[in-house]
Amino acid sequence: MDMKDNIWVYSDLAGRYAELAGGVSSLGGKAQAIVVGSANSAAKAAASGVGKVHHMAFDEAGIVDNYLPGMVKLIQSSGDSFLVLVAATKRGRLMGARLAARLGAAVVSDVNGISMDADGLTVTHSVYGGLAQGTEKITASKAVLLVAPGAFDAPESAADSEVVAAEAETSDDVKCLGHHPKQASNIDIGRARRVVGVGRGLKAKEDLAMVDALAQSLDAEVGCSRPVAEDGMMEHERYIGITGVKLKSDIYVALGISGQVQHLAGINACRTIVAVNKDKNAPIFQHADYGLVGDLNKVVPALTKLLAQ
Ligand SMILES: Cc1cc2nc3c(=O)[nH]c(=O)nc-3n(C[C@H](O)[C@H](O)[C@H](O)COP(=O)(O)OP(=O)(O)OC[C@H]3O[C@@H](n4cnc5c(N)ncnc54)[C@H](O)[C@@H]3O)c2cc1C
Repeated sequence: MDMKDNIWVYSDLAGRYAELAGGVSSLGGKAQAIVVGSANSAAKAAASGVGKVHHMAFDEAGIVDNYLPGMVKLIQSSGDSFLVLVAATKRGRLMGARLAARLGAAVVSDVNGISMDADGLTVTHSVYGGLAQGTEKITASKAVLLVAPGAFDAPESAADSEVVAAEAETSDDVKCLGHHPKQASNIDIGRARRVVGVGRGLKAKEDLAMVDALAQSLDAEVGCSRPVAEDGMMEHERYIGITGVKLKSDIYVALGISGQVQHLAGINACRTIVAVNKDKNAPIFQHADYGLVGDLNKVVPALTKLLAQ
């Protein structure tokens, strides 16, 4: 069977099947979906525009990663040539990579476009932390694509598909040793209109008070670079970048942040970037609309004072 006629989709989050269905319909086909979860999740997937849904009932005490053998078996039984689209959630990335390894398939991550012609499958995906686009031609007969969030629009309307029970063959590769509830957090700096970000240029936790004062006078949220969160100076929900929050703010003020590519990937959708750094050669200045070379310990209080006038 041709790859185009044998497409599968998988997501650990039921809400992402509609986007995957959109990606498949851009190829002019329908996919079969694998759902590891509740009957509700299977019904949600079935209503999202995918084709037949293979539902593996999930044991609430289990770990979704351990359902890999059943998924591999199902896909392998469909033929020698197939395409699998996996939603690139945190768990999906892991599952997609393991699936590709077990299936002996080519794998491409961060995919945001797919097309298929007589020569085969072409995919576009973001590279260098979202700063550039790469185009890859898949020459293998089996491929797993990790689909970036928002890459495809959900189909406008979709009829319910058939749901069939699938054998949930599991492994015990991953064992859960315990659950620790995370402290509830309502921080969502990804939606803030203005954000002040601090980097390793800020030396002590006490210095956050002056940053908070500046943020208050700007009516802004405070974010940070990843090392600042990893050092425990700020919550993980506040770090910005490729592996953190992606901002869409009107203003982003970067204080003592060097501007590494992984951080830039989280701010390249901001409308205006202001950078303060004591090193005039810091890469952040190449991406800033306004740059101020100086010691943030002097610049931040001075800016706050100015804004108060
Ligand atoms: C796989 C991977 C994923 C990653 N994901 C992310 C991510 O999502 N987000 C992220 O942020 N990073 C991420 N990183 C880390 C990233 O590569 C950088 O190490 C990090 O962004 C640097 O943080 P920084 O700019 O705060 O620190 P530094 O690079 O150490 O820069 C500190 C800056 O502060 C300036 N400075 C020092 N003192 C002062 C002062 N008194 N006044 C003014 N300026 C001063 C210095 O000149 C310097 O430019 C990732 C790395 C890897 C390998």
